[in-house]
Amino acid sequence: MSLMGQMMHMPLMISSLLTHAARHNGDVEIVSKRVEGDMHRTNWAGIEQRSRKLAQALERLGLKTGDRVGTLAWNGYRHLETYYGVSGSGMVCHTINPRLFPQQVAWIVNDAEDKAIFVDLNIFPLVDKLAPMMPSVKHVVVMCGREHMPKESSIPNLLCYEELVEAEDGNYQWPTFDENTAASICYTSGTTGNPKGAVYSHRSTVLHAYASAMPDAMSVSSQDTVLPVVPMFHVNAWGLPYASAMIGCRLVFPGHHLDGASLYNLFEQEKVTFSAGVPTIWLGLINHAKQNNLKFSTFKRTVIGGSACPPAMIKTLQDDFGVEVIHAWGMTELSPLGTLSRLKAKHADLPKDQKEAILAKQGKGIYGIDMRIVDGDGKVLPWDGKAAGDLEVRGHWVISSYFKMDKSPLHDGWFPTGDVATIDPDGYMQITDRSKDVIKSGGEWISSIDLENVAMAHPAVHEAAAIAAFHPKWDERPLLVVVKKPGAEVTAAELIAFYDGKIPKWQTPDDVVFVDEIPHTATGKIYKLKLRETFKDHKLPTA
Ligand code: ADP
Repeated sequence: MSLMGQMMHMPLMISSLLTHAARHNGDVEIVSKRVEGDMHRTNWAGIEQRSRKLAQALERLGLKTGDRVGTLAWNGYRHLETYYGVSGSGMVCHTINPRLFPQQVAWIVNDAEDKAIFVDLNIFPLVDKLAPMMPSVKHVVVMCGREHMPKESSIPNLLCYEELVEAEDGNYQWPTFDENTAASICYTSGTTGNPKGAVYSHRSTVLHAYASAMPDAMSVSSQDTVLPVVPMFHVNAWGLPYASAMIGCRLVFPGHHLDGASLYNLFEQEKVTFSAGVPTIWLGLINHAKQNNLKFSTFKRTVIGGSACPPAMIKTLQDDFGVEVIHAWGMTELSPLGTLSRLKAKHADLPKDQKEAILAKQGKGIYGIDMRIVDGDGKVLPWDGKAAGDLEVRGHWVISSYFKMDKSPLHDGWFPTGDVATIDPDGYMQITDRSKDVIKSGGEWISSIDLENVAMAHPAVHEAAAIAAFHPKWDERPLLVVVKKPGAEVTAAELIAFYDGKIPKWQTPDDVVFVDEIPHTATGKIYKLKLRETFKDHKLPTA
């Protein structure tokens, strides 16, 4: 007969992250650049106390366990309190990206049936306009003090965050319940079709926080001052609000001030050591630092993911600024972390360029996530670093179904990511492309990421996107769309020649077009769908 373990069973609760932070690191600072324009300072003990008050206020408003509470807010302490107050009391925190098209915001709020919306002052006009289209929303809370409340609004009974919180006494016990209860919900961006909701549990969120902080993952500790550039509405800032409470680090929130100059000043003023964000945001910061001949005095490490980080960016940050880049891959359906690129002990003596080649990959699966690649028939492919197939994952923080959707997204118990990848014998995964972005030239596949990575290494290139353009003979051929650096000059022929020896000749782009700006999605990724539309009638010189 099997012998059962005799350990305490404590459900993994999101509130336990915060009570731990308050108890063990209560005096550690949480700094926010506010929408109101000033700096605000509190600490983990303060956040915990006000989150309790917020939980009381939510109950006073009549909200119940399982009710969804939407947020439309930048990174800041009030948003952090909302994360914990909502999930901690058994409600479901639904972060919404304010950069989505307004109709999409309304669609998502309706799908989630949000009962309340918490909104930052400078996003309020959006909610004011959309209110008649969001019948489930009974309460709108503006995240500011009475003195800043909007003077005019079509919404009756507009609530003031500070009044709501400060009216309570904080005499509240965080409830304990089933760890599989829903804690938060994030929608995929829906660049193709309607957005889909991923519903995270308390358990999946806490496990993800454990795994993400590990030395071979994000490697973030209580020694760090963490500035999440990645918004709290982009897959919950990649879980940093939870991992930070777990480890008790200092947090600095940038609000909506995300341009290169504002970020640089905040990094320096607040002695930031660690950050995370999508590649686009680093383009702005690097440009600002280079143009003004600036260096970072405390910034040491950053996680970059969300789309492929060009090797040239990793090298610049490392060689010119002394910032170590941890390249990571993930997605909304994975809470989001799947793989991170960190070296193994056996790589210690490799030459610099070989180490760089490993670190440029999307990385190794962390414990808690398993992965495999399969071909079109579902046959599992080898980990030889050459075979490319559809990437599938499973694990403790991977969805098993989408919100309100009956049809299982799983294939054979695995979640198909829609990405095409190779995995090498050491377990390093490399994304070739999103399957819908692959360029199919005469039946052969060309990786748009490979083409972009080469272009991004050219000194005159600010940003580059490779897309498929119609070709009468080959069906598709690569077209490179380029934004030049300010004042830099380069011709199409020079850029095409730049590919010589860097990739197989037949993969070289057939043409280059220069544009002032490349369109981005609401999460700051290159908007390939839109680019393909724009250039659908582009006539290739080779056609
Ligand atoms: P969306 O982009 O639709 O908002 P996600 O943020 O969930 O949704 O995007 C996940 C996708 O982003 C992945 O499936 C993959 O295609 C891409 N991605 C994320 N990180 C990387 C990376 N490091 N390299 C390449 N692609 C990445």
